[in-house]
Amino acid sequence: MSLEITRRFPIVDTVTSLINGERLPARSGTHRIPIINPTDERVLSHLQEADAAEVNAAVVSARRAFDQGPWPRMDITERNDILYSIRDHLRKHAEELAYLECLNTGLPLISVRRHVDRMARNFEFFAEVASTTHGETYTQSKGYVTYVTREPRGVAGCIAPWNAPLSLASMRVATCIPFGNTCVLKPSEYTPLSMLRMVEIFHEAGLPPGVVNLVNGRGHITGDALVNHAGVDMIGFTGGTGTGRAIAATAGRNLKPVALELGGKSANIICDTADVERALDGALSGIYGNNGQACLAGSRILLQRGIADAFIERFVARSRKIKIGDPMLPSTEIGPLAFEQHMQRVLSYVEVAKSDGATLLTGGRRSPAHDRGWFIEPTAVLAPHNEARVCQEEIFGPFASFLIFDTVEEAVAIANASKFGLVSYVWTEDLSTAMRCARDIRAGTVWVNTAMIRDLRAPFGGYKESGIGRDGPQASLEFFTELKATIIPIDPVKGHRYGAA
Ligand code: NAD
Repeated sequence: MSLEITRRFPIVDTVTSLINGERLPARSGTHRIPIINPTDERVLSHLQEADAAEVNAAVVSARRAFDQGPWPRMDITERNDILYSIRDHLRKHAEELAYLECLNTGLPLISVRRHVDRMARNFEFFAEVASTTHGETYTQSKGYVTYVTREPRGVAGCIAPWNAPLSLASMRVATCIPFGNTCVLKPSEYTPLSMLRMVEIFHEAGLPPGVVNLVNGRGHITGDALVNHAGVDMIGFTGGTGTGRAIAATAGRNLKPVALELGGKSANIICDTADVERALDGALSGIYGNNGQACLAGSRILLQRGIADAFIERFVARSRKIKIGDPMLPSTEIGPLAFEQHMQRVLSYVEVAKSDGATLLTGGRRSPAHDRGWFIEPTAVLAPHNEARVCQEEIFGPFASFLIFDTVEEAVAIANASKFGLVSYVWTEDLSTAMRCARDIRAGTVWVNTAMIRDLRAPFGGYKESGIGRDGPQASLEFFTELKATIIPIDPVKGHRYGAA
């Protein structure tokens, strides 16, 4: 895997919607949003916002592809050949996709390249899941056979965030279309560059028109039109908890099922029985990976008192040595934050921390080494207690909040004292401690002595306000398919004949 950008790729002047396999032309009279490179603050392109009429055209296209098109009715081998072709085309264009995403998001190229590999794998994996789907048959009722089939649910609205667009938007699509569904994808208005190319590549790989349609625009305009559209049968959403709540309320009024992957404030528990060297590496990558903009960040680092001072000292020393810079360079560890308003929000938590009595340990300001771009120094604070806002609110940047505990029971109680429950991390060499933490922590994933490993076979999603539903073979199958029972008499049935007597 090449981690260096060996060439630059073209950028469209205007990012438009892609409906029924066709990129729409740029037109006047629409709302345009500049797409900005967070590394140098230059305008890269413009997004042309899809209004309700354009969203309607996308839903009509997806509806037609579902109700009349070949996709849901296609032989599974034929459908899977297209999904495998998508995998191969994504690999073939990995450098281009990574380049566009790195340019638009500021995520280090090295991590985005891994995302592209993973997204290609996701299409392969869920194609195989769909091909092993099976039904049930019941013959216990004398004279009857009842069989149960799984059918695609219909047209999905897939909505994705900006923090890892390729990885997260493709996951929404890869869990949906292999079961025979069609969809309309709305990525974040901040990071649409790689998304347009991704959907084009799906079509270059042989995806029939209408199966995946792309609409671009802000949440309250384009996103809201999609969620409210009567032709959409279900919503798959990845994003913030507040947005998820609003979407679930709208979908609930229309009785549309929702799958929500939301925010987190995950505890990273480091016990005095830990292999401290590995825990230190894990704590740093847990909060600074993906520029700190990760739902599964280990953003509350809980240290057992006996190791706390030495651990913090080493964490701070390493934080100060992290290479901040051009995300295209393979040596860069942290790039700029994705957009200016977000950077200001992350930095605002320095004052929030201080007013709650926290101590700033390192960072807390824009990187003085950069006169352009939304770079901030890796930041860490020591919080006085878990009720501090920096321990309860998702900051979504390279911003660690430390807490100190005495007993493992106390650590678990702190971990659970959160409205979120996405993931958690535990570092200990003591088996019983690891097992007790894994049992008692209320989160969708518990990582013991490791950070951020994802197994596609296992469900992924959150407890509490971190989400509803899971991504995974069984969970995605259940969300994206309907069950149908068909009952057939084997012999002619004699029932009551109304009005015949
Ligand atoms: P966001 O909620 O602001 O936006 C997400 C998407 O929703 C965007 O496409 C946005 O335009 C759209 N949207 C906003 N309002 C809408 C509305 N009223 N109707 C329909 N769509 C609307 O989130 P973000 O800032 O883009 O992403 C960061 C958040 O996403 C963080 O909270 C993070 O934890 C979460 N996230 C969760 C996971 C997970 O798997 N659990 C993964 C990545 C990110």
